[in-house]
Amino acid sequence: MIKAVRGTRDLLPPDTALWNFVERKVREVFARYNYQEIRTPVFESTELFARGVGEETDIVSKEMFTWEDKARAASEKTQTLTLRPENTAGVVRAYIEHELGRSGLLQKLYYIGPQFRRERPQKGRYRQFYQIGAEVIGPQSAGSELPIRDAEVLDMLTALLNAVGLKGWTLFLNSVGCPNCRPSYNQALREALEGIKDQMCGDCQRRAETNPLRVLDCKAPADQPFIEKLPKIADYLDEPCRKHFAEVRAMLDALEVPYEVNERMVRGLDYYTRTTFEFTHGELGSQSAVLGGGRYDGLSEQLGGPKAPGIGFAIGEDRLVLALQAQQTEALAPLKAFVIPLGAGMNRHALKLAKELRAAGVAVDVSDESFRLKKSFETAEKLGATYAILVGENEVQASAFAVKNLKSGEQTTVAGEELQEYLKR
Ligand code: ATP
Ligand code: MG
Repeated sequence: MIKAVRGTRDLLPPDTALWNFVERKVREVFARYNYQEIRTPVFESTELFARGVGEETDIVSKEMFTWEDKARAASEKTQTLTLRPENTAGVVRAYIEHELGRSGLLQKLYYIGPQFRRERPQKGRYRQFYQIGAEVIGPQSAGSELPIRDAEVLDMLTALLNAVGLKGWTLFLNSVGCPNCRPSYNQALREALEGIKDQMCGDCQRRAETNPLRVLDCKAPADQPFIEKLPKIADYLDEPCRKHFAEVRAMLDALEVPYEVNERMVRGLDYYTRTTFEFTHGELGSQSAVLGGGRYDGLSEQLGGPKAPGIGFAIGEDRLVLALQAQQTEALAPLKAFVIPLGAGMNRHALKLAKELRAAGVAVDVSDESFRLKKSFETAEKLGATYAILVGENEVQASAFAVKNLKSGEQTTVAGEELQEYLKR
């Protein structure tokens, strides 16, 4: 038997109803905050991620699906391609390529789509997973660097999570500084790590040299006591970064967005500057991060583009759905009615009635005239329909239908023209 590849999975009904519900709700919220959709390719040049996400990150150093793509014609050349492990680099590439900054306006872009990382599969961690993300990026003159953008993004995130009905999340917030103040913090980390790194994991020993900030991101339990005692970034922020962070926090306080400052949180991507954040949820166990994001003021330039500060986030849709399932008991958009044709020649009448109800926005399904009534009722129950509607010769002639409420057992006759209203109550 051929099975889905390790770390990938089929999303099946009824779960897909929840996925669709989530996507519908977030699109509504994005529209209210004046975001528009962008769709970038699922694969890109490997170099984009190497330069954009950073060579030293877990993503680039061990999680990417990369292959040599052979030239098929003299006009092509062999190139190294990668399935996108995240979408920010692709969006910023598109921003540069299409000169989206030329309008002088902020670009508020969102995306929904699959991402790929070769990780150890477990609950909430897959090799193909889905992200719902957004980026606010633009020329400095459009205010892309200002703290109000950070506060607005975080405010929208609480609106997104509210719209889908997620309860019990925690927002962790930090500032990771900028290229002006980061070097002195990195230096302090290097010095602090000098004496202890030999007792830490291999990755940390390497990072202590190459990119000490990444040490804070280490997940190895044995390393945590060492990490706890490292210098704190807040003590190293320069004045502009300190002020930026204070302003973001003041606006969040005014908006009554609850958050906790977590100075250990540096996030897994190299491009972040200043504000970084993560929302966690208790139902998700060790894969507790529902979403992460932050500011990336230098990313466009790093990819060869113009100065275009920005801030963005990515929600792990798989984890969001898992968290919703853990708190959800009622099925979404349940089947309203099962239309049951009774006897030969009744299928066409049943279909016609179903068509009218569907056109009126009622979710219905239809049985078949060859099925015994008992079988049709059993099917209606299995489908979770609220009502069964019987369509026999007499009903069609009288244009009044026997309607049975399958939850209460109550049965009544409802005139054809009143049926929609009756079902919608
Ligand atoms: P983690 O620390 O859990 O590995 P991350 O820092 O690698 O997360 P980001 O790159 O910030 O994650 O991606 C944003 C969100 O995407 C995460 O908060 C998570 O919800 C989701 N995500 C990341 N990797 C996976 C994966 N392999 N499977 C499912 N969801 C994922
Ligand atoms: Mg990860």
